[in-house]
Amino acid sequence: MNFETFNFHPSLVAGLAAAGYETPTPIQARAIPQVFKGRDVMGLAQTGTGKTAAFVLPILNRLVQGQSGSVRALIVAPTRELAEQIHQAIETLGRKTRIRSVAVYGGVGINPQIQKLKHADIVVACPGRLLDHIGRSTIDLSQLEVLVVDEADQMLDMGFIPDIRRILKNLPRRRQAMVFSATMPPEIRCLTGDI
Ligand code: AMP
Repeated sequence: MNFETFNFHPSLVAGLAAAGYETPTPIQARAIPQVFKGRDVMGLAQTGTGKTAAFVLPILNRLVQGQSGSVRALIVAPTRELAEQIHQAIETLGRKTRIRSVAVYGGVGINPQIQKLKHADIVVACPGRLLDHIGRSTIDLSQLEVLVVDEADQMLDMGFIPDIRRILKNLPRRRQAMVFSATMPPEIRCLTGDI
């Protein structure tokens, strides 16, 4: 299989070339067609398998075809390092698109994030700071179409599951969801079912 099979938007084909990706990894080959069909996806994948592009590519492909200027995709990650990595992957793969991504996490000033949130199409967020923005009404999630919870098992280890449930209460009910986790303990299975 190669990336041509997916018929990505030309701007993404350019992004793939910039990233130097030629062949989809197994998680990409299996997840992307399901996401295209509009299905919810649960990916059991470790870091290093190409799982980031498995959700970033179909999200970008969906967003380039619509109206930009509102938050249409939300990716929740357990650490700021991971949030930055995902944001960078979006910047690289989406470099030929007009899609705007912002990484939102604690430990840094909130005001620059508030400014960027006004124009973002994709938000990559750690749970605590995201809830802070929700509480201040500095993020509008009413137009959300896609939700990704990445490294769900690490969220569990870090005690973030109550925060994730609080976030879910603030999202539109009709949305596509993807959950990625390296392991599948019962708590994550239960959360995934609820999502
Ligand atoms: P991840 O598991 O998402 O952290 O990705 C691990 C590494 O694989 C990152 O450096 C990606 O840039 C790279 N990568 C992801 N997908 C591909 C691909 N299809 N071909 C080559 N490298 C890839």
